[in-house]
Amino acid sequence: MARDADFATNVDGVFVAGDAGRGQSLIVWAIAEGRSAARGVDRYLAGASALPAPIRPTDRALMV
Ligand SMILES: Cc1cc2nc3c(=O)[nH]c(=O)nc-3n(C[C@H](O)[C@H](O)[C@H](O)COP(=O)(O)OP(=O)(O)OC[C@H]3O[C@@H](n4cnc5c(N)ncnc54)[C@H](O)[C@@H]3O)c2cc1C
Repeated sequence: MARDADFATNVDGVFVAGDAGRGQSLIVWAIAEGRSAARGVDRYLAGASALPAPIRPTDRALMV
């Protein structure tokens, strides 16, 4: 599902992270996305956030 840099969808107040946003993946990505999305929600509600954002919605694993 499309989301912006704060994991927000085009529906106001609706955020998406993990498999629902990225597609079928691994638990480590879901955990990292959940943490980053929490920061996006915090920014949405409070206007700013001190929470960490370990990854961006567009980050992908490096294939070597
Ligand atoms: C069979 C299988 C084996 C896997 N094995 C591995 C593995 O070995 N290692 C690994 O890293 N990853 C594995 N994965 C992938 C990993 O499970 C997922 O990437 C991870 O669970 C995604 O987390 P999530 O929080 O995004 O989604 P989910 O864990 O799917 O959580 C979504 C939650 O939302 C709930 N939900 C759905 N609809 C609604 C609704 N309308 N209202 C309220 N709640 C709702 C669901 O019940 C669920 O609890 C496996 C996946 C599958 C299917």
